[in-house]
Amino acid sequence: MLENGLKDKLGELTTELDNLKEDHAKELAMVKAQAEARAVQAQGVGRALAVDEATLPRVSNAMTIAELKVELKARDTTGKFTKGLSSWSKGDFMCELGQGTPRLSAVAEYRCVEELRDLVKRQKCAVERERQRVLREQEEERRRKREEEQEEMRRQEIERQREEDARLAKHEEGLHTHTSLCHGCPLAPTRELLIRANEYRRMPRDENPLTSCDVCNVEKEYNPKVKIVWSCVKCDYDICWECYQVESLPEDQRDEKRKEIAKMKEAERKAEIKRKEYNPK
Ligand SMILES: [Zn+2]
Ligand SMILES: [Zn+2]
Ligand SMILES: [Zn+2]
Repeated sequence: MLENGLKDKLGELTTELDNLKEDHAKELAMVKAQAEARAVQAQGVGRALAVDEATLPRVSNAMTIAELKVELKARDTTGKFTKGLSSWSKGDFMCELGQGTPRLSAVAEYRCVEELRDLVKRQKCAVERERQRVLREQEEERRRKREEEQEEMRRQEIERQREEDARLAKHEEGLHTHTSLCHGCPLAPTRELLIRANEYRRMPRDENPLTSCDVCNVEKEYNPKVKIVWSCVKCDYDICWECYQVESLPEDQRDEKRKEIAKMKEAERKAEIKRKEYNPK
C-alpha cells in the first residue's frame, strides 16, 4: 500500500522534471538564436547576405596595368578617375587600390551589374529614339495640316477670282451696246472695260500699253497719244478715235473723210511749226 503510494509520487515527480528540462532547453535555444542574430547584424547586412570572403578575387601585383585601370574605374563611383590615368605607374595603381583588397571588377555579380547598366542604357536609347520618332511624326502631321489649310485657302482664292471674273464678264457683256459700221458686233466704251494688270489688280483696257488699234495697228506702248475708244471683248477688237472717224462711215464716204483728216493734220503741223518759229525756246 505504502509502496504503491511512493511509486505514484515518484512517477509524478519524474514527469514534472522532464517538463522543466524541456522548457529550459527551449529557452536556451531562443537565447542562442537571438545572440546569433545580433552578431550577424553587428557585422553588417551586406556581409550576411551575399559575399563569401574566402573565395573573393583580390588585387595583386600580378595584375597588368590594364586590369588595374579597369579595377580603379569599377571602384570609382564619383568619376574622378576618368582622366589622366595614362601617366600612372603600377605602383600608383597599387597604392590607390590596396594590395589584397577585393577585386570588384573580377566578381561575377559586378560583371552582371555592368551588363545590366549597359542593357539599361541601350533600352533607354531605344525609348528616346521612339519618343523622337513620335515627336517627328506629330510635327510632320502638323506641317501636313498647315499645307492643307494653305492649299484650301489658295483654292478658295482661285474660286473667288473665278467668280469675280465671271461677274465682271457678264457686266462688261452688258456694256456692248454701241453699234457701228466699223465692226459686226455691238461695241463697248474701252474706258469702261477692265483687264488684269496682274494677279491682284485690274486696269482700264485703254490704259494697257499692249492694247492696239485693229485698223492702224498702233500700240499705245509706241504711241502714247493714240486713244483707243471702242472695243469688242469677244473678238478682242479695238479701234482708235482717229480710225473710228473713218471706219464708222459707209464705205463710199471713207476716202473723203481720210483726205479731210490728212488735210486737218497737215494744217495742224504747219501751225505748230509757225508757233515754234515765233516762240523759239
Ligand atoms: Zn550576367
Ligand atoms: Zn487706229
Ligand atoms: Zn466682235
